[in-house]
Amino acid sequence: MSEQVHIPKRENVRAGVPIPMPSWYHMGGRSVLMTCVNGHSHRLDHTIDDNGGVRPSVQCPNCDYHEFVILDGWVPPTEPA
Ligand SMILES: [Zn+2]
Repeated sequence: MSEQVHIPKRENVRAGVPIPMPSWYHMGGRSVLMTCVNGHSHRLDHTIDDNGGVRPSVQCPNCDYHEFVILDGWVPPTEPA
């Protein structure tokens, strides 16, 4: 199994605040926006387990970023998926 990369959570989006790369942003429910190491943001269409593990691996549509990731700070939604 490939090593998993921990992705820090970004709490908000504000003008003038640099976006950590990589990072992830919670859009609500199980909807997650992820930013790759090169600053490309895209919405994940993945399975996220209760520990923030994302399956399958994340492939950026805009560059060759391709990793198995864990969303640090992930809190599973209480409503059914
Ligand atoms: Zn990218």
